[in-house]
Amino acid sequence: MTNHYDVIVVGAGSMGMAAGYYLARQGVKVLLVDAFDPPHDQGSHYGDTRIIRHAYGEGREYVPLALRSQVLWNDLEKKTHHKIFMQAGAMGFGEKGDAPFIDEGIASGKAYNLDVERFTGAALKERFPGLQIPDNYDAFYEPNSGFLFSENCIQAYRDLAEHHGAEFSINDPVRDIEAYDDSVKVMTEKSIFTADKLVISAGSWSGKIAAKVGLDLPLVPSRQPVAWFEANESLFNANAFPTFMVEIPNGENRAIYYGFPSFGGCGVKVGRHEYVDAIDPDTMNGEFGSNENDEGHIREFLDKFMPKASGALKKGVICKYTRTPDGHFIIDKHPVHAHISIAAGFSGHGFKFASVVGEILSQLTISGRTDHDISIFRLNRPGLMGTKVAGNERKYFK
Ligand SMILES: Cc1cc2nc3c(=O)[nH]c(=O)nc-3n(C[C@H](O)[C@H](O)[C@H](O)COP(=O)(O)OP(=O)(O)OC[C@H]3O[C@@H](n4cnc5c(N)ncnc54)[C@H](O)[C@@H]3O)c2cc1C
Repeated sequence: MTNHYDVIVVGAGSMGMAAGYYLARQGVKVLLVDAFDPPHDQGSHYGDTRIIRHAYGEGREYVPLALRSQVLWNDLEKKTHHKIFMQAGAMGFGEKGDAPFIDEGIASGKAYNLDVERFTGAALKERFPGLQIPDNYDAFYEPNSGFLFSENCIQAYRDLAEHHGAEFSINDPVRDIEAYDDSVKVMTEKSIFTADKLVISAGSWSGKIAAKVGLDLPLVPSRQPVAWFEANESLFNANAFPTFMVEIPNGENRAIYYGFPSFGGCGVKVGRHEYVDAIDPDTMNGEFGSNENDEGHIREFLDKFMPKASGALKKGVICKYTRTPDGHFIIDKHPVHAHISIAAGFSGHGFKFASVVGEILSQLTISGRTDHDISIFRLNRPGLMGTKVAGNERKYFK
């Protein structure tokens, strides 16, 4: 293995693996370094599936990126024998007048003329009889969305990247990085590599890795339980029931529950999207059930809204989110070392964009710019105030 590359990608998970593929496909000599053997159960992509929605409650700025991602996922599906996407549809519902996430989902669909049907709670129950929701809820349904097989996606990008000549250093954690004016040196557990350019996409470890190149990012890793339950298969299988996002107003503790229909008898999968306390990704307790709320919160939700999917617990896993203060991603070039790009802080809703983020990272790395509008993800936005850059007179972004 030669030790100098055009580009080194630190973290070959959701974003990094896609970036590695789009770089290698364009003839770039790329090395992907990962602490584990992706796809794996230690990062943010574990747990079989991820929802892809086009109408977007987190903000309509995401819609063009979601649509481009879908094109790239469909393209990936054609290039691999792995199953990538299931068009099960996506629905969202919440209390009328108190569900900003649902309201923005509907508005973003309208703004981009997406195929989004609007429902009352009563009409949604008729359409999906497994639901038990108040008649006056506000709801929408998007037939073209669905879910991605997250681990298959990463495996498919890995196979294709390898096919195009990408090299890998697996089970090889990066220990240190030195950034020079026009190159980098990456010290790993097993070796030392150099490159002209660097991509940092280390998921919940991105804060630790970015600190090695002088960036103190306001990233908060957190522990996220998700579980599968036995369900009435005729009501909740993927041909009869879509993915779902449900906004529960609860004062300051507003939560969004999300989930997936059953397929192949796996049961209904449910999680609770909320930004809980910070953990250290190296020492987090990864045992499902070690906190009584791991199952408890999800069970309460199912009993209330989908009682016929609240059967025996089939499986539970723990995954990791890494959030930013404003919930938007970080995708930008390093403010001092423009040959370093960073993609981090995907705040629990990033997987669906991994394909387009890979494309963006390849463009930023090769030409220094991208065709996509990523202005809401920039490092110097007001929502990231407090980001510090070592050795730079712009010590704090304003
Ligand atoms: C339970 C759960 C449910 C979710 N549901 C959805 C959903 O429905 N839809 C959606 O769009 N998104 C969803 N997300 C969010 C999405 O999965 C993440 O935003 C996305 O996976 C983040 O990708 P990443 O590349 O940043 O992290 P990862 O995929 O974790 O990749 C980071 C990689 O960096 C590597 N790494 C770390 N440190 C080092 C080091 N020192 N040296 C080398 N390599 C290193 C890791 O091993 C890992 O492979 C969910 C997340 C969770 C946890």
